[in-house]
Amino acid sequence: MSGMYDLAIAGAGLSALSAIAAGLGRRRTIMFDYQDEPGGFLKHALPAPGFETAWELIRSTRIPQGLTACYGATVVGLLPAFEGGEPHTLVVRQKQGTSQVQAKRVLIACGGLEIPREHAQIPGSRPAGVMTPIMAHQLLAQGYLPGKRAIVYGDAHYSRVTAQRLADAGVAVSLISASEAQLVAIEGSPRLQRVTFRRAGETSSMEADLLVYSVGMMANTHWLKGSGISTAEDGAVQVDAGYETNVPGIYAVGTVIAPSLDHVDSLAMGKEVASLLGGTP
Ligand SMILES: Cc1cc2nc3c(=O)[nH]c(=O)nc-3n(C[C@H](O)[C@H](O)[C@H](O)COP(=O)(O)OP(=O)(O)OC[C@H]3O[C@@H](n4cnc5c(N)ncnc54)[C@H](O)[C@@H]3O)c2cc1C
Repeated sequence: MSGMYDLAIAGAGLSALSAIAAGLGRRRTIMFDYQDEPGGFLKHALPAPGFETAWELIRSTRIPQGLTACYGATVVGLLPAFEGGEPHTLVVRQKQGTSQVQAKRVLIACGGLEIPREHAQIPGSRPAGVMTPIMAHQLLAQGYLPGKRAIVYGDAHYSRVTAQRLADAGVAVSLISASEAQLVAIEGSPRLQRVTFRRAGETSSMEADLLVYSVGMMANTHWLKGSGISTAEDGAVQVDAGYETNVPGIYAVGTVIAPSLDHVDSLAMGKEVASLLGGTP
């Protein structure tokens, strides 16, 4: 893993895979992902109706010879070059220890994180049974039923896909729109028992042992603190029309530049990045 690379990619999700499928990374490239396999966060919800292209990409993309793919590898820091022409440095943590990798160009493709309930400071207790959609999908994938009576709270297509997946597994599901109802209280201990909403001035409670909080994504940029990469108020990495950040040679693509649960441009962005950074147009 040591040595100098032409390109280092942080994240092996949909946007990175799309870029690789379009020819990026055929030469002296290294890619990191903290999960054990490529495919990103969406993979846990797939296959799902309407997302055949993403599923096909995850299933069909082959890692080219010139690309070293490191899974179970978390990029914890990015140290941009001081001078033009010098390499950038990524700090990477794996089971074996922490190491530094140098690359002439870096592509940040680390996606987004689901917004947790803590973000909205909802009153009430902190019971078991309140989770994000990815957690619910992961539990289902491992054969666990995350609850018997669920509320999925959110408006995104992802929220609907999650509700459907739970219903298919035998869970009684209510889908509550976050734009129509405000979540005002979460109660229960140690397990969730009741969720209270306010709609058009009226307050009502629902019994549930599972609340899937599915209101949105935020850019996964905490690890970039101190790197000097410019981010917007919502944390998204700011890029120009060529996907380049304020630091020459450091690029970003996917949800990390456009955080939204229903963001659907990652595949197209990946292809564009490949043609701009040296893939097959
Ligand atoms: C049900 C559903 C279907 C969707 N279908 C589509 C679709 O068809 N097309 C589309 O474009 N979008 C689709 N989206 C949106 C989709 O979530 C995003 O477009 C896509 O996942 C974002 O790709 P990404 O590469 O930016 O991030 P991700 O796919 O989330 O990949 C980010 C990767 O980076 C890794 N990572 C993060 N931080 C680090 C770190 N510090 N070190 C190492 N690795 C790290 C993560 O483990 C992850 O694998 C869909 C969303 C949902 C919910």
